[in-house]
Amino acid sequence: MSVLVINSGSSSIKYQLVNPETGEAIASGLVERIGEESGHVEHHFGEVTRELNGPVPDHGAGLETVLGLFAEVGPSLTDGSISAVGHRVVQGGKYFDGPALITDEVQARIEQLCPLAPLHNPAHLKGIIVARRLLPDVPHVAVFDTAFFQSLPGEAATYALDRAVAEKYEIRRYGAHGTSHQYVSGKVSELLERDDLKQIVLHLGNGASASAVVNGKAVETSMGLTPLEGLVMGGRTGDIDPAVVFHLSRVAGMSIDQIDNLFNRQSGLKGLTGENDMRAVWDMAEAGDANAIEALEVYAHRIVKYIGSYTAIMGGLDAITFTAGAGENDNKLRAMVAERLAPFGVKLDAEINAVRSKEPRVISTADSSVKLIVLPTNEELAIARQAMTLV
Ligand code: AMP
Repeated sequence: MSVLVINSGSSSIKYQLVNPETGEAIASGLVERIGEESGHVEHHFGEVTRELNGPVPDHGAGLETVLGLFAEVGPSLTDGSISAVGHRVVQGGKYFDGPALITDEVQARIEQLCPLAPLHNPAHLKGIIVARRLLPDVPHVAVFDTAFFQSLPGEAATYALDRAVAEKYEIRRYGAHGTSHQYVSGKVSELLERDDLKQIVLHLGNGASASAVVNGKAVETSMGLTPLEGLVMGGRTGDIDPAVVFHLSRVAGMSIDQIDNLFNRQSGLKGLTGENDMRAVWDMAEAGDANAIEALEVYAHRIVKYIGSYTAIMGGLDAITFTAGAGENDNKLRAMVAERLAPFGVKLDAEINAVRSKEPRVISTADSSVKLIVLPTNEELAIARQAMTLV
């Protein structure tokens, strides 16, 4: 039994064939630079890696190449072993609070939601259309990044904006990375053997977000209408006074598209240091670069600000969990955050924190007021498992 998980981007398709029971990644790969002069496809199965270079005109051609590689290199997708195709979809709007079996109607809804996620939903749609055409005998399931946050209370999801405008244009906090926050917070409950937890999950990858989860339900999250709001990210500002937009428009004469690009791609760590990879920022900081040192402080400050506000909102806190690229691997960043929480009795076990591992682990001392946890996220597995709930 396996599920083919597809994450289709504007010029790429990433895929993984997952065993939803064991979590094993049976095969994986990606198609890059779709529509450009020279594309790239790579497919991994067991010890074998097959790479192809050459133009990939569109998503259909890309997925056809991938299916060809499955047939040639393995494993077979036509022997009836695949139970579903799970598609990652960033924006499900107010319509989806869980996974959905993709019908023409569901597909039309995803299309209708494109204005709310102009960078993501059109790309997902391309992947869905070609995958449904090329794999017509398997159920296709959409798993939405926003679904976990449909449970946010009104007071957390509502912006204090003119109601008529907000309603007409469907403006609210939708959140993102929900599949990861749901998976990780669920695993924390398993790890601590407790369902009644007040927890904060910090998904710190190239995109970064925080969520507050009480008894398994999300009550707050840092991303908003789009993934721009909240924590400092690789290339995104996170929180910023919206009046900066008016200022840049009026004073600098920048267009909306220029400001969009500035906030979503040229800001965050990249804007502060020139580098959007946390490892490069640490290298600069350790070499004494003042901008990089300040960028790390801004990054940690923002995280701590969210931890404080979420603790107040939940009326307490049992666990803080670090996940995704930097959360799982960056022990110095975790130490920076923990140090700032020391006045509240939060105590990091420096030795355990320094150990590199793929295993979920508690990294605080036994007498810490709050458990600090590192828990690797696995969005592909979470998508595969959610898809299986519908087939
Ligand atoms: P993700 O989006 O989850 O793949 O995370 C990617 C980000 O994780 C990269 O941009 C890095 O900033 C960060 N990252 C990965 N490995 C490390 C590491 N060993 N130390 C610090 N940051 C890391």
